Amino acid sequence: MADNSIKAEESKSLNFIELFIEEDIREGKNEDRVHTRFPPEPNGYLHIGHAKAFCLDFGLAEKYGGKCNLRFDDTNPEKEDVEYVDAIKEDIQWLGFDWEDREYYASDYFDELYNFAAMLIKKSKAYVCHLSAEDVSLGRGTPTEPGKPSPYRNRSIEENLKLFEQMKKGELPDDTCTLRAKIDMTSPNMHMRDPILYRILLAHLHRTGNVWCIYPMYDWAHGQSDSIEGITYSLCTLEFEVHRPLYEWFISELGIFPSRQIEFARLNLSYTIMSKRKLLQLVEAGHVNGWDDPRMPTLSGLRRRGYTPDSIRNFINTVGIAKRNNIIDVALLEFAVREDLNKKAPRVMAVLDPIKLIIDNYPDEKVEELETINNPEDESMGTRQMPFCKEVYIERNDFMEDPPKKFFRLAPGREVRLKSAYVIKAESVEKDENGNITVVHCTFDPDSKSGSSTITRKIKGTLHWVSSRHALDAEVRLYDRLFMDSDPDGHKDKDFMEFLNPDSLSILKNCKVEPSLVSARYPDQFQFQRLGYFNCDKDSNEVKLVFNRTVGLRDTWSKK
Ligand code: ATP
Ligand code: MG
Repeated sequence: MADNSIKAEESKSLNFIELFIEEDIREGKNEDRVHTRFPPEPNGYLHIGHAKAFCLDFGLAEKYGGKCNLRFDDTNPEKEDVEYVDAIKEDIQWLGFDWEDREYYASDYFDELYNFAAMLIKKSKAYVCHLSAEDVSLGRGTPTEPGKPSPYRNRSIEENLKLFEQMKKGELPDDTCTLRAKIDMTSPNMHMRDPILYRILLAHLHRTGNVWCIYPMYDWAHGQSDSIEGITYSLCTLEFEVHRPLYEWFISELGIFPSRQIEFARLNLSYTIMSKRKLLQLVEAGHVNGWDDPRMPTLSGLRRRGYTPDSIRNFINTVGIAKRNNIIDVALLEFAVREDLNKKAPRVMAVLDPIKLIIDNYPDEKVEELETINNPEDESMGTRQMPFCKEVYIERNDFMEDPPKKFFRLAPGREVRLKSAYVIKAESVEKDENGNITVVHCTFDPDSKSGSSTITRKIKGTLHWVSSRHALDAEVRLYDRLFMDSDPDGHKDKDFMEFLNPDSLSILKNCKVEPSLVSARYPDQFQFQRLGYFNCDKDSNEVKLVFNRTVGLRDTWSKK
């Protein structure tokens, strides 16, 4: 009884893919082997949707003591690049996964795939078709009308073999003909209506050079590559569900290892897009500064922005595996980032829009080193000293000359505490010729020092600050949503580009940060107190400090 209830508990927490795997293991399928693969096409950088796929592929292998291969699906030579291969590997490693020595390429299997195709021809299950791509697709018909058989469908095996060999040798120009599977032109599944297996492309593929003049179509290369590698679970997104009968047809006609395809829902995030092709458009049109622009949903963009591997993995676990497509609120990802950084990021002080404050009754030359804690969430992170003197910067919007009653920050005659320092009271202001405040004059209460304060009156506000004589200059980049619509890709009549947010990046060039940040470098992370989590950007060096706002302290955006 007790045993059963434990089992029920366990199975409740299993996702549907794990349920399949455990069933197979119980039935002794695949000699208990769990072997998955992550099959990116090296035609762009990985985005967080891909992370969902490879966390699942590598995660299941880890969980069941199996293996996960990294296989580049490099069958589309016109769009692929080694830059992408390297970036993809870096991103997978960044999230903590390891394919060991199993880095494979679909192009490694071109010989085997060619032989498989020849096998189909010999079984009279494939033919060389001289229809143009356009006519092939016209001839397919529509889901409700059957297709028309190609006039080349009944070529002899000998003729097909000869033509296929000519295709391979580069004796026929691009697009002269294709090799098609001979399946069923009346099938209700369009993918079964004599799909194209090979096209002629006298192109250069980065790994195979100019050796190959024909290229396998994705559907032909993909399933067979899985079989060649002995993949037991071929996990992919839902749009491939309708391709499954075709993959099963190939497996059965060729008599090869039956990898089991299981489909799951894509990850979609609100306010962004998840398509390498569209992300490339943003890069090429200059709407962002490259694939690793911190506004991009790419893993390299999120990394540059300061999102941590732990937060991304936690987010992906929280979202879980589903069978139906939906859009996940990006606020959930931001929550995961905030939660992780709250534990890890040291607190520091930075002023983004500084206004100078002069403490008139503080000795002119005096400098005090005030102790402050690095992270109240984690005492082991210790304390540091902050220099304090007569002149400090505070945020311009923390002072109001004529405030409403409930303004608990600084105003003439009102008191606030400077964090880890003293209670001050604003006395007067200096203005420039345009009436803008340039300096706020204050007095401080010497008995109010943090930690040894003897004051009993209630001080409502605490402000962050930096000593103006010790502060460092910094540039701070603030990011907003890249798109103004929660589903920019979901409009039939409008292009996603129309929803680009023109204010997604603000660069603040006159920020002041505390002197302890002098040696901050990418990818150091901080909480700028009261402002949010920030990281040091790649552009930082000895002469210039640049920070990115990773995420605000709380979800202010959704309240707008
Ligand atoms: P994109 O449309 O962004 O180019 P893709 O599917 O063409 O995506 P691939 O390189 O073929 O890109 O993807 C590798 C793997 O990642 C595939 O198994 C694919 O199903 C999966 N994948 C891609 N996008 C997502 C997503 N948004 N959520 C989950 N898995 C995804
Ligand atoms: Mg793809």
